[in-house]
Order: sequence, then structure tokens, then C-alpha cells
Amino acid sequence: MSHPLKTRERLTEVRYEIRGELARRARELEAQGRTLIKLNIGNPGAFGFRVPEHLQRAIADRIHETDPYTHQQGLPAAREALAAHYRRRGAPNPTPERIFIGNGVSELIDLSLRALLNPGDEVLVPSPDYPLWTAATILNDGCPVHYNCAAENGYLPDPDEIERLVTPRTRAIVVINPNNPTGAVYPRPLLERIVAIAAKHKLLLMSDEIYDEVLYDGAVFQPLAPLAGDVPCLSFGGLSKVYRACGWRIGWALLSGDPLAVGDFHHAMDLLGALRLCANVPGQFAIEAALSGAATIHDLTGPGGRLHEARLAVIDSVAASRHLTMVAPMGALYGYPQVVGDAAIGFDDQAFALETLESEGVLIVPGTSFNMRDRDHFRVTLLPPPDQLREVFARIERVLDRHADA
Ligand code: PLP
Repeated sequence: MSHPLKTRERLTEVRYEIRGELARRARELEAQGRTLIKLNIGNPGAFGFRVPEHLQRAIADRIHETDPYTHQQGLPAAREALAAHYRRRGAPNPTPERIFIGNGVSELIDLSLRALLNPGDEVLVPSPDYPLWTAATILNDGCPVHYNCAAENGYLPDPDEIERLVTPRTRAIVVINPNNPTGAVYPRPLLERIVAIAAKHKLLLMSDEIYDEVLYDGAVFQPLAPLAGDVPCLSFGGLSKVYRACGWRIGWALLSGDPLAVGDFHHAMDLLGALRLCANVPGQFAIEAALSGAATIHDLTGPGGRLHEARLAVIDSVAASRHLTMVAPMGALYGYPQVVGDAAIGFDDQAFALETLESEGVLIVPGTSFNMRDRDHFRVTLLPPPDQLREVFARIERVLDRHADA
């Protein structure tokens, strides 16, 4: 007789619903012949966005050099280019030794939390968050403690609340800027307050900046490292979004801060990096090309660009809705509307997302999937063509009309 294999107990606390039950149900419907519009994953390549050609060439031209493993922190030339990039941004003393290249930011989030946490240590994570942050904290034996980023405050956190949540067990503050899922872009004074809290309580700053150049309508991105100075700070970036190369699995992190403060942590990161040998080598060859300054994402996010127009389509559709409101996203690849009015009475975002999938063929992600308590939000990506997004919101309105009239 066979017995079910036991799995890690804390997995029961872990969720990643962007690719969860709803996505599984969507695949089932597609297998039955339904055509769906899937707005669950920030996957530019799936919507016809291409990686800039000079990045493709950088790999193609050197593919014959990509056979060996590289250093665990990444190719020296790529790390030199990243160090120069962060130097241009004003980060304190970025050197190639302080750069870690990984298989996407995802791997480096996990690796850095593994290097940092002892059982029961707490990490301050935004709510809503990109759910890997909460999941990776739990899986590395930590406790995520969520600080609120409320719609009423443009989804910006209240630094006083962040500080109130600090305990003797707190080890790090996670900042996601520009934010997924809300699209909030954090102003400099707010970031300065967060740095001051980290300095006072001797915490590591972990700044997820993967959308750093995905900005709309004149929004200005402020990198955290230059403000952090001597305060230990990990700044994460990568090729997945700004360069539309999700499938290449390349991300990086800069560890800045006082050498005495970060020395042991640096060794821990290096050791964990060595255990997984190295990041995908062909992708590393594209880093220098990416940072050369040619062909950025601005053509897509600026007036007339596809992402610019998609964002406007979502803003206009929400404005025309009887049931929705939204803080316009200033960065990243998502809209995060909130249900209001009669439709919001007794509203359950998970049931709504399932109903929208089943009855309208549209796959969205419920707001609570981003570790948000209120059940009145959902997330869409800005990746489909603008007309398709208008169609999506017409279908969503039908579902919400039924809720409001029920
Ligand atoms: N951080 C945020 C905020 C994200 O939205 C994502 C992916 O959507 C990631 C990290 C992971 O990116 P990568 O493809 O580099 O693993």
C-alpha cells in the first residue's frame, strides 16, 4: 500500500495565486476549446513584446562562449557593467564584488532571505505585495509582518506604522518600488524616512526595483541605495520587465552599505550562490548590452507607446465604470482597480475572479492574492493591446452589474 509523501509543513502557509487554482482552471477551459484573455502574469513576451535586438545579438554572437559555469556571483564583465550602472545612479561605492547575478530576481529574493533569517526573525513586507516576498520569508523560516499601503494614501506606506511594527526580531524592510501590484512610485522623502528607520533599528533594506524604468506620465524613480549610504541595502533589478526578457531568467542585486556591517552577509550570499553554482550564462551576456543605454522601454511607456496607451485604456475604462475606482498606476505593468458602491456589498474577490473567468473568459488575479486583507481589489496586466483591455473591462462590468443588481 502506498502512502502520500509528507511535504514541508510551512508550505500550507505559502500562496502564489498568480499561477494558482484560477490559472489551472483556465488551462482546463482552454483544453475544452475556450478562448481566454489571460491577464494574470506580467509576461511581456506572451503579448508580442520582444527583447531589444541588440540584447538578442549579444547572446547569439557569444553563444559559443557560454559553455562553462561562471563565478557564483556572475560574469566579471557583466558585474563591472552593473557596478558602473549603479555608480551612475549615485549608489555608494558599488564594486563588481558587491554585485550578485541570479536566475531572475526571484532566485535572489529567496537566496538573500535565506542568507539573512534565523527561525522566527521578522521581515516587514508591504501589503499588498508581490507575493514571492511573503512566501520566501515563510519558506526561509521567517515571519512576514505586513505594513499597510492603503488606497486612500495612493498605496504609499505610512512610515510611522512601519516603525511601530519593528520588534527586537525585525531584520529587514522590503520596499517594492515601482510597486507590483499597485503601480505606486515612492517619493524621495518617504524613502528617506524608511532609510532612517532602517538605520535606527539596524535593519537591512531590501529594495525590489525590477520595474525601475517602467514609468508613466512623468513619474520619477528614486533608487534607494544612494539614499541608504552606509545602511545595508540590497537593490534588486533585472532583464525581465524593462528589457522584456522574462524567459532569460536574469536578475541582479547590489549589496551596498558599510563594509563592516555587510561583510558576513556578503559571505553568506556568496556561499549560497556557490551552492547553486551560477546563473544562466547566455543571459548574462546580455547584461552589458542592456545597460549600454540603447533602446530602453521608454518608447513603450511614453506617449503613443503601447504600454502608455494600454494604461490609458484601463484608466478610461475604470473611469467609465459604475462599480470601479483606481489610483492610476505611475509605474510597473499593472492596474489595480477597487470595487465600490452596491457591487462592493458582500464582495468576495476570489469568487469574483472565478466568475469572471467562467462566465466572461477573462483571467484576473484577486487582490487578496497579494497579501491584502480587504477583498475588494483585483489586478490586471497592462500587456494586452488597448482595445482588448477595453473589451476586458466591458466584460468585467457585466459581472459587476449582476453583483450590484443582486
Ligand atoms: N519582483 C517583482 C516585484 C515582480 O513583479 C517580479 C515578477 O513579476 C519579480 C520580482 C521576479 O522577477 P524575475 O523574472 O526577475 O524573477
